[in-house]
Amino acid sequence: MIDLTGHVYGRLTVINEADRRGNKRYWICRCECDTETVVQMSQLRNGRIKSCGCLRAERASDTHAYKLADKQFGRLTALEVVDRHPERMVNIWSCECKCGNTITVRADHLVQQEVRSCGCLKKDQDTINMTEALQSRYVDGAATHLLTQKLRENSTSGHKGVIWAKREAKWHARITIKGRRIHLGYFDDLDSAIIARKDAEDKYFQPYLEGKE
Ligand SMILES: [Zn+2]
Ligand SMILES: [Zn+2]
Repeated sequence: MIDLTGHVYGRLTVINEADRRGNKRYWICRCECDTETVVQMSQLRNGRIKSCGCLRAERASDTHAYKLADKQFGRLTALEVVDRHPERMVNIWSCECKCGNTITVRADHLVQQEVRSCGCLKKDQDTINMTEALQSRYVDGAATHLLTQKLRENSTSGHKGVIWAKREAKWHARITIKGRRIHLGYFDDLDSAIIARKDAEDKYFQPYLEGKE
């Protein structure tokens, strides 16, 4: 049976064996900072734990606490430490976003660039993605459909979406939006039919295009 009593591992000095949990052995250690802590034997021996946690806290504060003020992280500027994360031992900073919002962010999330805005960055990106999705749908669905031979075959007017309707003996204006054909009416003169079609294009296609801005 190995006895670790008296051994020193980093800041920890082993005092006594603690109760076993299952088949694992645990040791009561006193840290240099005077805190007692119970550590699993293998973690002491492989050097994974060298203090009560104070070592890690100091390192965390060295890296994260004192050097972030006024620094830029994406759209965020770190202002001041407002809290400390109880488990992760990192400081929590209040940050001002370029959009004017103030939020609190963990120091490590700032340093690792996991958080780069109050959320407005993602919102902007979502808008861009959505606009692009709409536009590709516009191009793939509505527009290319209208521009391909399918309508050219039917068209006798030379204008997209305007054909001569034999039975009615009028010009028939229509538009296809995402595969759904919408009838715009029958007209005696070609110009009126073309205008109707043009108006419909503005009405149905404009919302997609406006999303771009
Ligand atoms: Zn300690
Ligand atoms: Zn923002």
